[in-house]
Amino acid sequence: MSARGPLLAAVPAPRESIPPQPAAVQAGPTAADWSAAVTAVRDLPPDGSVLLICHVNPDGDALGSMLGFGLGLRRLGVRHLQATFPGAAGDRPEVPEPFQALPGLDLLVSDDRASADPDLVVCFDVAAESRLGALVDRLDRTPASVVLDHHASNTWFGQIHLVDPSAAATSVVAVQLLDRLGVPLDAEIAECLYVALATDTGSFKFDMTTPAVHELAARLLGTGIRPGEISRRVFDTRPFGAVKLYGEVLGRAELEPAAAGGVGRVWAYATLEDLRRHDQRPYVLEGLIDSVRCAAEADVSCVVKQVADDEWAVSLRSKGAVDVGRVAVALGGGGHRLAAGFTGRGSVAEVMAQIRAQLDA
Ligand code: AMP
Ligand code: MN
Ligand code: MN
Repeated sequence: MSARGPLLAAVPAPRESIPPQPAAVQAGPTAADWSAAVTAVRDLPPDGSVLLICHVNPDGDALGSMLGFGLGLRRLGVRHLQATFPGAAGDRPEVPEPFQALPGLDLLVSDDRASADPDLVVCFDVAAESRLGALVDRLDRTPASVVLDHHASNTWFGQIHLVDPSAAATSVVAVQLLDRLGVPLDAEIAECLYVALATDTGSFKFDMTTPAVHELAARLLGTGIRPGEISRRVFDTRPFGAVKLYGEVLGRAELEPAAAGGVGRVWAYATLEDLRRHDQRPYVLEGLIDSVRCAAEADVSCVVKQVADDEWAVSLRSKGAVDVGRVAVALGGGGHRLAAGFTGRGSVAEVMAQIRAQLDA
């Protein structure tokens, strides 16, 4: 590890001594937070190393904001640069098919090859340390860490916090930091940030699609990237087996119109056996919640996806009547008011019972 630079003396105390600060999370980054983050990058030692990390089962925002920012650091001349996520494996870690054409994938290394003692760790789209798996130890060891996120449920880990719950995606935070670092946006950086923005806003359909979001999209499109091609790749291309799998899983979805205090709940589940039968990878189920939540009779939708024998990745959505972020946090997860998730244990019935207990409470 290189010697600490001048910035590092000014870095706040280690995370253990920082209690969760919900008020600070809500307020978004201060001018001091931004300048601490800029200083953390500018004061890297000559030949300093940077490790970029994002959450397990990375989505478009996690990968897009991480790789877009990574390409920006590369343009600044940072040479020792790695990106990874929990579970990244092999010489060229695989990402879900929709993201296999993202620029900057050459930055990815397997999680066990990620530098053990980088000079700076930058963390993207991670609401809680539990989403970092074993990579959390890099945060403990590094002399400086910057956390870029937009989850209101952020648990305030790491040292420098750029956590803005009003941001539609972590890439909105990332672009502000790139601007402050003086990195011009080129088409490669823009494509990464655009994928992040488009995925987290549900293709610019969700309420957080503010004028500023469209202004950022316009700026990104101004670099010449092709939105039609990108959207087709990211949203509209799946193996035929996934189409059949969706048919089966949606065929057994259940509607409970009187549930969740009368606003209605719709839910579906998919097992590892379902995936095996259709020869599909888990990522193809990421979009399942979008098909389930169409049901007009339900405000709340749930998709329960098996990831191990008695472990399930649960997606929750609300159309506005219910704070599913609260439900997810109560069950050990996190997210936003209208889109959240948690890891469930036991059988599908047991996981649904946990959700019912919270929703119907
Ligand atoms: P998903 O349903 O996987 O699209 O996730 C919806 C939102 O909930 C995203 O903002 C995720 O970051 C968050 N989320 C999902 N699962 C978890 C979890 N196990 N812990 C914390 N946050 C989660
Ligand atoms: Mn994410
Ligand atoms: Mn996000």
